[in-house]
Formats: sequence, structure tokens, C-alpha cells
Amino acid sequence: MLTNRESAETTTESKRFLVKCESCAFEHTVADRDEAAVIGSDHQRETRHEVVALEVPPAFDRS
Ligand SMILES: [Zn+2]
Repeated sequence: MLTNRESAETTTESKRFLVKCESCAFEHTVADRDEAAVIGSDHQRETRHEVVALEVPPAFDRS
């Protein structure tokens, strides 16, 4: 199932969602909650992996 973990405080309306797999390197950032849910359940259905969707602020940068 999708778990919604908030990684930071709620900021602006332009949030992003990081869809991340706990079992492999699958990772995808989207701007839309619905898209995040679709991508997450898609990967989960195909792989049976545990997928999480993290809400991230617009300035989120993992470089
Ligand atoms: Zn996976």
C-alpha cells in the first residue's frame, strides 16, 4: 500500500511527490498526487515491492 510520509512542513501549493521503492532503486518525482499514486501502485503491482510516496517541498534537491 501507499504510505504517505511527510518529510517536511507544508509549504506552498506547488508540492512535489517522491515515489520511492523500499526494495529496489525505483524512484520517481512527480508534481501531482494522483500521478504519484498511479506510478506507485503500478510499480507495486508489477514487482510486489513496497512503495512509499513522500511529500517534498519544491526546493527539494538530492544532489
Ligand atoms: Zn521496486
